[in-house]
Amino acid sequence: MKHLTLPPIASAGQPLAAIDTPALVLDLDAFERNLDRLQAAADAAGVKLRPHGKAHKTPAVALAQIARGAVGICCQKVSEALPFIEAGVADIHISNEIASLPKAALLAQAALVARMSVCVDDIVQVDMLGQAAAQAGSRLGVFVEIDIGHGRCGVTGIEGVLPLLDRIARHPQLEFRGLQAYHGTLQHLRSHAERRERSARAAARAGEVVLALEARGVRCGTVTGGGSGSAEFDFASGVFTEIQAGSYAFMDRDYGDNEYTDTLRFEHAMFLACTVMSTAAKGHAVVDAGLKSLTTDSGLPGIWPPGRLRYHQASDEHGVVHAIDGPLPALGQQLLLVPGHCDPTINLHDQIVCLRAGVVEALWPVSSRGLSR
Ligand code: PLP
Ligand code: MN
Repeated sequence: MKHLTLPPIASAGQPLAAIDTPALVLDLDAFERNLDRLQAAADAAGVKLRPHGKAHKTPAVALAQIARGAVGICCQKVSEALPFIEAGVADIHISNEIASLPKAALLAQAALVARMSVCVDDIVQVDMLGQAAAQAGSRLGVFVEIDIGHGRCGVTGIEGVLPLLDRIARHPQLEFRGLQAYHGTLQHLRSHAERRERSARAAARAGEVVLALEARGVRCGTVTGGGSGSAEFDFASGVFTEIQAGSYAFMDRDYGDNEYTDTLRFEHAMFLACTVMSTAAKGHAVVDAGLKSLTTDSGLPGIWPPGRLRYHQASDEHGVVHAIDGPLPALGQQLLLVPGHCDPTINLHDQIVCLRAGVVEALWPVSSRGLSR
């Protein structure tokens, strides 16, 4: 039987219109401006940048961030970190807790090749990490996660931190590196003033713990946290020494809906290219990108440029498009969508098609795609 091979989604030198869809496409100029902008703001504030790898899952993106001055990256999962290590990323913080010995063992193995750290909010996790690091013969950095109002992981206040510090000190291969303080929901508050006020309150809660520890003679080397919606405030907080923003590199529709001032603003750089594949119905067009190509947890995608068309409804492999102003797109026409939420959308794709001035420059594998263990 004849063996059929799937042609590549795109190749270098092709124009955008020639790539097969659905495809994640990256406007390299806008992407590089986003990276430069956040790194410059971090440098100006004297704060380190450790961008979040869960937003892109793509080693080429991490290397571009590190080339600009990022100290390393964050990952949310141990397995997610492996392709980054393989690609040469030497410093990875798992900004999350783990609670099983096999994961702790894998992390401890990873720490033989890269500088690794992880969060804890319970002594059980500390003991697992200590045991795994002893077995592997490696050193693991440990951050105590504190809850600064998000209400997800993390202990509350100095009383929650102290027993964990005692426990970490019992394991010679664990090294207390500081606090993680992350508040996710405030990132997406639309009003700039409200984000500033809530970010300041969250940072103040972290600051209280830092001072209380200092009063007991414990220095927090690093206070890590923050995201794309709070970074500008976190830089100025005097509390955070390291910022974990991820989505700023791509900017999804949800982050685009935030209100910004001109101090720190990022551009949409990541799009989902799709094709109109049916115009048989009156009143709408249908594109080839639905729930298998984008996620709708943060709402439907936008259509780029905004104002003319609206993505109305998603099903598995269909997207229904309405006109806001002017005609519907023609059969075969390519459209660019702005994903509602970049992180889980990228996790649906094997590669990113990188374009400069509308021409394909490179294909970047999304190597950590699907690695959620
Ligand atoms: N740090 C942690 C612990 C997170 O969970 C997240 C995102 O959810 C981030 C940083 C990065 O946030 P963003 O992609 O919104 O910039
Ligand atoms: Mn996200």
